[in-house]
Amino acid sequence: MTPARVSVPLADLYAQYLAIRAEVDAAVAEVIRTSAFIRGPFVETFEREFADVCGLQHAVSCANGTDALYIAMRALDVGPGDEVIVPAHSWISTSATVTQAGGAVVFCDTDEDTFTIDPRLLEGLITPRTVGIIPVHLYGQPADMDAIMSIAARHRLWVIEDCAQAHLARYHDRNVGTIGTVATFSFYPGKNLGAMGDAGAVATGDAALAERMAMFARHGGLTKGDHQIEGINSRMDGLQAAVLSVKLRHLTRWTARRREIAAEYVRDLAGVAGLTLPREAPGRQHVYHLFVVQHERREQLAHHLAACGVQTAVNYPVALPFLPAYRRLAYTPASFPVAYRHQSRILSLPIFPEMTTEQRSAVVAGIRAFAAYRA
Ligand SMILES: *Cc1c(COP(=O)(O)O)cnc(C)c1O
Repeated sequence: MTPARVSVPLADLYAQYLAIRAEVDAAVAEVIRTSAFIRGPFVETFEREFADVCGLQHAVSCANGTDALYIAMRALDVGPGDEVIVPAHSWISTSATVTQAGGAVVFCDTDEDTFTIDPRLLEGLITPRTVGIIPVHLYGQPADMDAIMSIAARHRLWVIEDCAQAHLARYHDRNVGTIGTVATFSFYPGKNLGAMGDAGAVATGDAALAERMAMFARHGGLTKGDHQIEGINSRMDGLQAAVLSVKLRHLTRWTARRREIAAEYVRDLAGVAGLTLPREAPGRQHVYHLFVVQHERREQLAHHLAACGVQTAVNYPVALPFLPAYRRLAYTPASFPVAYRHQSRILSLPIFPEMTTEQRSAVVAGIRAFAAYRA
């Protein structure tokens, strides 16, 4: 029961760089040669290319995916007393930026199978003060956008799609990011489209909103010396844009590769006792930023895999309402039973486009050995 010792990292950014080294090095050298460090032609080119590839109408770059959420909410005029509904299970940026924009966070429990906000619970959370909903396409699987959009329309709410983990994911015949009022993206290095530092973007089909977001992100104006409003400094830099333009050319292929690896995992891990595999809901195309399984002995499984050379992670060990940051709201597990149950069961397995067959087999062998040993 000792599987072959192969080192399997959760992700391998250096392997990705090696695969496209010449392109990246040339792009970086060109930014340095032209000193186009902040905004400039590389940033403008990337904004256009990213919008084209994702089917977005107006894409506006910014410094990171957290700023993207904050910029969107400031442009939508979130203010004191405004309630914004977010999923109980996400990265903290989704909720922290609501508070930073001046609003009040209202958590909604997530769906058992997809880890995304449960639309069946939304109406019960809407009050006269509710202004918007932020579904998160968590782990790369789209949230149930039809249900969310029809509730939002009925109550005249805006919708921000948090697409930080879901570049190129599809919901029926549309890309995520083209459905809500605004979409936000992160290009944190480990995301499906990642820079070599921090970067992000907001996108919308509303030209006036796009302009407000661009102004807010750039000191309140679009040209030097012009300040229509008080803004912030949240710009993408030229080096990141040049790297992102190179990587964008490979994103469709990388996404297909992630989906292939996920399908192989699902095939090879089917029927393993005690293991729950991720489920792709009908009409939704998951892009597997993370491949998250569930097991009632999650800690023991993680330790066993670590001993086999397989790195795993927990995304995220404590659901948002139960974090010390939200102690003031005094929630109990019964307030968000699904997110609470998931937090002790979830385990992210290695998945990245450059993953080898040998690496994937080592993960499968490790999990099967654990199951056989426990049986
Ligand atoms: C990564 C992430 C963010 C924040 O993006 P940064 O670029 O790290 O600021 C926001 N929401 C979700 C769901 C994320 O995964």
